Parts: sequence; structure tokens; C-alpha cells
Amino acid sequence: MSESTSRPVALVTGGAQGIGRAISSALLQQGWQVMVADIDGEAGTECIHLFDSLGKVVFHPVDVSREDQVKELIKLTNEKLGPINLLVNNAGLANPYTGALEDLDLTTWQRYLDVNLTGVFLCSKYAAADLRATKGSIINLGSTRATQSEPDTEAYSASKGGVISLTHSLAISLGPDVRVNAISPGWIEVGEWQKNSSRYQPFHSDEDHEQHPVGRMGKPDDIAGMVLWLASDLAGFVTGQNFVVDGGMSRKMVYKED
Ligand code: NAD
Repeated sequence: MSESTSRPVALVTGGAQGIGRAISSALLQQGWQVMVADIDGEAGTECIHLFDSLGKVVFHPVDVSREDQVKELIKLTNEKLGPINLLVNNAGLANPYTGALEDLDLTTWQRYLDVNLTGVFLCSKYAAADLRATKGSIINLGSTRATQSEPDTEAYSASKGGVISLTHSLAISLGPDVRVNAISPGWIEVGEWQKNSSRYQPFHSDEDHEQHPVGRMGKPDDIAGMVLWLASDLAGFVTGQNFVVDGGMSRKMVYKED
């Protein structure tokens, strides 16, 4: 059997930077073939060079909110790598802050929903036939902000709340063939996982780290580790769930001291 037919195929949206880049890298190292799908061509091309020695990796530029582009992405993944075993819906507008509610325009609100929520729907819809055939799985990136908020984050929080609901809905519709789960990251520092031209050296105070019950902020690899487990047979009895990976931050009770 050729390499392209023997190794399972993962499609990682937003796979060229940040958490998605770490997920793509981890999957390649575990023997998966990976289609990196990202709207950023510069980051995607960089990834291909970076990951070339790790295994079979292909980049295709896509806006996950565009139905025609998503259809083409699935077709291309089939042609280049084979039927999809794992879809990681990671692409997203990751900045939660969209300004004061009174100034939040409909275009911005709609764009967050289109990319963060409709993108998950479209990719899942068009990958479903493959995933049913391969008995594969879907992993969606939610956020702890689906259930908790700071001010001025309405569009982001609403989009991620939708992702968590869509996750259990898909799990029921696509079962028993396909397992569908969500990972909700907390505060993950992605500065070192950006493309060269926008990479930055992060700085965080002791307080930033110490406010996490595990004593540190999150890294993209923390999320990639959960992806590897959820995609494996070890998680064969797990579907429709949302896994919070936030160093325990959302479990901490906050009281103001006098
Ligand atoms: P990031 O901005 O570093 O990476 C996101 C990637 O998605 C980029 O490569 C970007 O080009 C791509 N992308 C954006 N819009 C796209 C589109 N329309 N079509 C295709 N690709 C597109 O962000 P990140 O911090 O790595 O976040 C990844 C996911 O994790 C997002 O869904 C985000 O909401 C979620 N998340 C991140 C954090 C965090 O602290 N970093 C916390 C909770 C949830």
C-alpha cells in the first residue's frame, strides 16, 4: 500500500498558525497525513516547508465561511490525500474583544458568526460523507468564553456558544459512525506559533501564570495533546462532549478580599 492510502488523513482548519499549527505538527508526528487549510497563504506556505520532514502535509488556502471554497477543499483533500478520518474545526477569529456593545456593527457580528460557527457547520457538512465511511471523528475548537465572559466580547462568546451546541447536535446526527467532540481552551499563548512576519516573544507577569490553578498559562501543545487523545481509539466511548483545557482557571471561585 502506498503511504497516501495507509496513513489516516486529518484536515485541520486554521492549521497554519497558533493552536492549529501545533495540532498539525502533533498529528504529523503521530503518523497522520495532514491537510492544512487556512485563509493565510503566507503562513500556509511557511508550514509546508517547516513540516516537510515530519510527513505528508499539504496546504490549501480557504475561507471556511465560504461554501464554494469548503466544497473545493474537501474535493482537493480527497484527491491529494484520500478520504478524511479526522476533521479539526479550529479556524477562527480568535480575538474576543469587539468593543462596546453600542458600537458593535452588524458586519463585525456577522463575520464572527460566519467564520467561527458557520465555518464549523460547512466543513462538517461537506466532510460528513468521508467521515461516515472512515468511521472518523470531528473535533471543534470552542472556548471557555462560551460559558463565561468579560465585557465587550458578545460576538465571540455567542459564536463559541453555538459551536458547543453544534457539537452535541452533530454527535447525535452522525453517530454511531462519527464521534464529535469540542475542546474549550482557556488562555493559550500563541505568539511563538505565528508566521515569521508576525511572530512575537510573549511576556507574561507572574500573576498571569499564578492565577491558573496549575501554576502556568496554556501552550498550544496542551490543546494538541487533547486532540491526539480524542482522535484515538482510547476515546472510542466519548462523543458529544466539551472538554475544558484551561489549567483549571474556570473552576476557581473569585471573591474580592477586603
Ligand atoms: P490564531 O489567530 O493564532 O490562529 C487562527 C488561524 O485561523 C490563523 O492561521 C488564521 O489565518 C486562520 N483563520 C482565520 N480566519 C479564517 C478563515 N475564515 N478561514 C480559514 N482560516 C482562518 O488563533 P488561535 O489562538 O490559535 O485560535 C485557534 C482556535 O482556538 C480559534 O477557534 C480560537 O477561537 C480558539 N481559542 C483560542 C484561545 C487562545 O487563548 N489562543 C482560547 C480559546 C479558544
